[in-house]
Amino acid sequence: MSSRYYTVNDFFKEKFNEKIYKVSLDAGMSCPNRDGTISVGGCIFCSDSGSGEFAGDNKISITKQIDEQLIFMQKKTKEGKVIAYFQNFTNTYGDVKYLKKVFLEALSHERVVGIAIATRPDCLEEPILELLSEINKDYFLWLELGLQTTDDNVAKYINRGYPFSTYLEATKNLKLRNIKFVTHIIVGLPKATKNDSLITAKEAVEAGTWGIKIHLLYVVKNTYLEELLLEKEFKLLTLEEYVEICSDIIKNIPKNITIHRLTGDGEKSTLVGPIWSLNKLNVLNSIEKELKKNNSYQGELLEKNI
Ligand code: SF4
Repeated sequence: MSSRYYTVNDFFKEKFNEKIYKVSLDAGMSCPNRDGTISVGGCIFCSDSGSGEFAGDNKISITKQIDEQLIFMQKKTKEGKVIAYFQNFTNTYGDVKYLKKVFLEALSHERVVGIAIATRPDCLEEPILELLSEINKDYFLWLELGLQTTDDNVAKYINRGYPFSTYLEATKNLKLRNIKFVTHIIVGLPKATKNDSLITAKEAVEAGTWGIKIHLLYVVKNTYLEELLLEKEFKLLTLEEYVEICSDIIKNIPKNITIHRLTGDGEKSTLVGPIWSLNKLNVLNSIEKELKKNNSYQGELLEKNI
């Protein structure tokens, strides 16, 4: 754990007084960017599992998925509490009654202290906002919004399927209801400028984000992104470039913003690159080293700009 930035684990320790793990669930959702409502191709980095490689099996119940993952996690924790993370595809896209059922089922599990829901900002209509608001009154909840970039040209190129203004509208609605949200940012997107991720992080803070999840763009086999890479449409980032961008983001965001991730999550068997991303510990250590070099920390540059 770093003393130079505020991780979500630091937050958990403060709130729950213990280390909290996450169990990733697949509730059998779809996505409007894949089912033809917006497009069929999806975001160009999306995998067949809808960005949920490590989640449970949607053929079994939510309770069973949680139980199975807890067995798998026994070496790490025997009795510890967990956050149930609805990860695959768009988890506010569907019948509200069904969504209520699966969210409450997860929350009724004795080891679950809260839920995290991954979704798109264009899938937060009034009935779902009402449901989330209701849940938020009694339980610990946050939403995860896949923004990736604030640049609408880059967003079009990656086929995100909604403009930045939709994110701003959604975050306004969430803030009105005191619902926490985490913003996903992808570093190294094709057509993005070097400052793209830093600008995106600053805009997310401005929009009231509770947390930030920084992903490295990695390329998975048999995706459109792999084709683009082979056609030399973009280049993969080096470790040094990635470390510099992450450090800049950390220095430029307020100290109370929770940092949920600073690495990519590629699987060895399907990863095309960057190969260095497989050594997550080295990535984190390199960021730590970079910050330590100049005695830097989260929010440092905001303090200096006052
Ligand atoms: S919004 Fe998520 S699930 Fe849908 S296509 Fe994009 S990455 Fe995939």
